[in-house]
Amino acid sequence: MSLVPLRRILKEAEKGNYAVGYFESWDYGSLDATIRAAEEVNFPVIVGFGARTFVNEDGWDDRKLTSFAKMGREMAERSSVPVSFILNESSNLSMLKRGMEVGFNCVMFDGSELSLEENIELTKKVVEEAKKWKVDVEAQLGRIPSPEKPLKSSYLTSPGEAKIFVEKTGVVALAISVGNIHMSRDKVFSVDLTRIEKIRNLASVPLVMHGGTGFPDELVPEVVKKGVYKFNLGSILKKAFLKELKLGLLKEDLEKDDLASIHDLIDSRGERGIFERAYFAVREIIKEKIRLYGMI
Ligand SMILES: [Zn+2]
Repeated sequence: MSLVPLRRILKEAEKGNYAVGYFESWDYGSLDATIRAAEEVNFPVIVGFGARTFVNEDGWDDRKLTSFAKMGREMAERSSVPVSFILNESSNLSMLKRGMEVGFNCVMFDGSELSLEENIELTKKVVEEAKKWKVDVEAQLGRIPSPEKPLKSSYLTSPGEAKIFVEKTGVVALAISVGNIHMSRDKVFSVDLTRIEKIRNLASVPLVMHGGTGFPDELVPEVVKKGVYKFNLGSILKKAFLKELKLGLLKEDLEKDDLASIHDLIDSRGERGIFERAYFAVREIIKEKIRLYGMI
């Protein structure tokens, strides 16, 4: 099965009337948990890292980006289910270009803070570069609010602009703002279903729903019907991981002189392994969400 282009995963999703999750990883363990979850339920998955994992004071940490790209590529190629490997949410063109060179098979350019014209111009550049590497590009139109930046009506994706944007750029998937919120646990936000339908009718590419953590479960089948074939999920995974680590650590006395048990806490595959348990928690959530998005 192994590494497949994003466009193919989304095409299959469209045919089968389901959505595929992108579960954002931050290290080897979280990536491994994601691929294992997908293998356990035997379903396609989109794995990868967010640009923030690599950002530093000089732009980005190239050694980290390259190492993570090679690791992710290797793991995707060895998976028993179809996997796409994405570098998510970067507005930095040189970082995206580097990501293509070193192993990601799709990238997401986030030009949502720019004017429509600038967003089109830069997204086009990313798509042109991506063609050389046979990499697929997702882009975003409309700004996605967060708890710090509440929704304004000007943030929402305009269906008319989406049509122009997709035609001029040639992206394979479009992230939209339709009431979805980044990093939110608030399940009461309202999703503008009519807007999704209009966007999909005018811009005929698969749509992407960022902000999966707070997205109401019961609306998943509704938005899939309207053309959303990819969901992005991150915050809830990191939270579950940290919570489990904390629980595990609170139970341990790290001051006692038993160094063997210290190794166990980090490396053990059994009950004693704190990391193992934390990644297991991540894997369980991902399995549940794959079933939800995939409607299996
Ligand atoms: Zn996002």
